[in-house]
Amino acid sequence: MESEGEGFSSENLAFMELAFHQAKLALESLEVPVGCVLVKDGKVIASGRNRTTETRNAARHAEMEAIDVLLEKWQRDGLSKSEVAENFSRCILYVTCEPCIMCAAALSILGIKEVYYGCANEKFGGCGSILSLHSSCSDPLISGEVSQRKGFKCTGGLMASEAVSLLRSFYEQGNPNAPKPHRPLVEKEAA
Ligand SMILES: [Zn+2]
Repeated sequence: MESEGEGFSSENLAFMELAFHQAKLALESLEVPVGCVLVKDGKVIASGRNRTTETRNAARHAEMEAIDVLLEKWQRDGLSKSEVAENFSRCILYVTCEPCIMCAAALSILGIKEVYYGCANEKFGGCGSILSLHSSCSDPLISGEVSQRKGFKCTGGLMASEAVSLLRSFYEQGNPNAPKPHRPLVEKEAA
């Protein structure tokens, strides 16, 4: 059987392990288990996990959580817009599942350097599955702000089967926050 780590460095695997740690924290909190870390100059500078249920906000994906940690920090530190852009251009994201269209667009506009992801996101993936927002070529369907996106290098399949089994364990245990199905009606027998 082909090794999952093939073609990836031990550093790649070590950072993805940290993203998985975040994903497992999400699972423990009954969130869809997706986690990520942002690495700059060989160091983890932010991490995030999915918090959509806790925040009741469908946009609070792991990537957005990690990005916001940095934006808030760099704002506090008084960094200029160009310094923020320079920092993002040196960041590598490790995320357990392919960024969705929303996150991929955000990462592209911020000008992140590179993304490694685990499994594909076949419903909402923005890095090849549905749209290819990591590629810098202009997309005629998308205009305005998003057309300023810079694109980034993107590699999937890093610990993909672990990512799939984590997601599967979430959906198999059942999402307690999902709307409950209506109780089956017991049909009364005609008297
Ligand atoms: Zn997302």
